[in-house]
Amino acid sequence: MLMRLKNALRRLDAMQQRADYNVTRSEERHTCPHCQNKYAGHYCPQCGLGCDSSRFTAKTIMRKMLDVIGFEEDGQHSLLRTLRDLLWRPGYMIRDYLGGHSPAYFQPFKLLLLLVLIFTLLIHMLGIEGSTESFTESMKKVAELQESEAEVERMAAPLIALAAKVIRWFSENMAYSIILQNIFIVTAIWKVYRRRAPYTWSETFVAQMYICCQFMLLTIAEVLLLRRYSADGLYPYLVNDWVVTFVLLYDFFQLYGERRFWPALWRLIKVDLWLILQYALLILIAIALLVVYLAIRTM
Ligand SMILES: [Zn+2]
Repeated sequence: MLMRLKNALRRLDAMQQRADYNVTRSEERHTCPHCQNKYAGHYCPQCGLGCDSSRFTAKTIMRKMLDVIGFEEDGQHSLLRTLRDLLWRPGYMIRDYLGGHSPAYFQPFKLLLLLVLIFTLLIHMLGIEGSTESFTESMKKVAELQESEAEVERMAAPLIALAAKVIRWFSENMAYSIILQNIFIVTAIWKVYRRRAPYTWSETFVAQMYICCQFMLLTIAEVLLLRRYSADGLYPYLVNDWVVTFVLLYDFFQLYGERRFWPALWRLIKVDLWLILQYALLILIAIALLVVYLAIRTM
């Protein structure tokens, strides 16, 4: 029974490793209408013009229009493939993308902006609560502090206002906030995996952008099905922490070639610990700055 399950999983894994983009070569000869260069292939090697872009057709106009809103890149139909592969074979897709197959996939940064836009439109349309309430509440608190008798409390008021503004900025500019918080996550993952995987910090960053897109897709599904999203936890992803753990394990199995459950889980726990350590350092630095600020003000 266990043997059969294992074999089934192995077959599934082999299916997921296979990519479906085929790289077509063309030996047809063309003369470039832009730079008069003679060449064989799909694109002019001198100026990059495509061999089919000398005439405007309904198809090329459609493509150019889709390109403006970021839906189409080089006519590769990469958006749909990227969305499908983010769910079907995320780790292998990222491995292929980093390994040089980037033309087959949609750029992760653009994709994240697009998904965040869809998410924002959705929560506005469905009227799901944002975090503006907590902002007005903290501003009320700030006003109270400014009226306070104690001098220390009056001095703390602008700092609390600043913190509330920073938090509001993060929740209003979700895409940028995810990218910024990613710096910590990427550093933690890179620390844990740098000996096992050939990826640099920057490549880990690109990989993590795709993983953010994957979580954004899950969040959109969550909002559509359950009419809510969970905004707390160690990671900035808007799904339940158990879901985050499961999805990250699944991604790392494929991306980093993990083969056994317990060692993979242990490495994920190490990533969490690094993350907590970094956040703790950040809080320590903030407290130190606060102490220095108060010391200067009372001098
Ligand atoms: Zn040319």
